[in-house]
Amino acid sequence: MHTIFSDGSVAPNIRVTEAKKDHVDVIATTEHLEYQSWKDDIPNPDRNRSFQIATDFAKNTEVMVINGSEITRSMPPGHANAIFVKDANKLLIDDPMKVFKEARRQDAFIFWNHPHWISQSPDAEIPLDTMHINLMEQGLLEGIEVVNDTTYSDEGLQLALDHNLTILGTSDIHGIVDWQYKIPFGGHRPVTLVFAIEKTPSSLKHALRKGRTVVWYQDNLIGRHENLVPLINACLSSKDAVYIKNSTVVNVKLTNNADAPYTLRNISRYNFYTDVDVFTINPHGEKILDIKIGEKKRKFTMQFEVLNALTAPATHPVITILIKPKF
Ligand SMILES: [Zn+2]
Repeated sequence: MHTIFSDGSVAPNIRVTEAKKDHVDVIATTEHLEYQSWKDDIPNPDRNRSFQIATDFAKNTEVMVINGSEITRSMPPGHANAIFVKDANKLLIDDPMKVFKEARRQDAFIFWNHPHWISQSPDAEIPLDTMHINLMEQGLLEGIEVVNDTTYSDEGLQLALDHNLTILGTSDIHGIVDWQYKIPFGGHRPVTLVFAIEKTPSSLKHALRKGRTVVWYQDNLIGRHENLVPLINACLSSKDAVYIKNSTVVNVKLTNNADAPYTLRNISRYNFYTDVDVFTINPHGEKILDIKIGEKKRKFTMQFEVLNALTAPATHPVITILIKPKF
């Protein structure tokens, strides 16, 4: 995210306050190295100050702040974020390949930002260049933004799967999060869920390097099958299943313990007495279904395609829910 230390509109402490309000665990300050739009008014000789100010302000909060920099070049290579940098000042290097190498020397995690950005790619496709391939082969590009702010790229998701890049989604916020994502009206900022063992920078970086992420974007969840399906299985379950009196119809509640809604399409052998095949379970909500089984069974399974989840372009994972009705 950006602040007045590059081309953002607010001070670093506001980023921390916004994150606190939204219960975001971790943020990274990623000021542009090469683009400081307020530099005549706010000189910024030390490129770590945005991180330091945010870190001081985040003391005694749950918000963890990571030091980063946005390498801001024309295409190729375009823009990239290096996060977990130790000294952003040492990244002020002209040669683009050498900047990436210095970020690597500092053991940063480096990812390609908005590869589909129309300012650098008018057709919003990804202008993959030999420079990008070289960066990937040298381990200097480890992830890719499939989501940036209010944009999403199918090609980015496919590129992540093809080149084993970590799937990321960021706000890249310059203005005010509440305004940009209409949070007071039920919106949410794009976030990357990182499946880290501990809430520490080293554990977080390890999980990012292993590709253990799911992106939450406009109430959709985007990630590798092995990360996304366990997440959905941990969110959805059935309870209070019972046969309706003198019938072979099972009344059951599906519950959702997540902040995201789920839109499901029934692809089971059984269908419903009350509903069509597609329905939504609200965040922290439940959905009552009457399922026509045709006989009395102690248990059965239902299969649902999760329409607001993506494991590849236009590919929705299928989950199975076990139901054990009472007679
Ligand atoms: Zn950028």
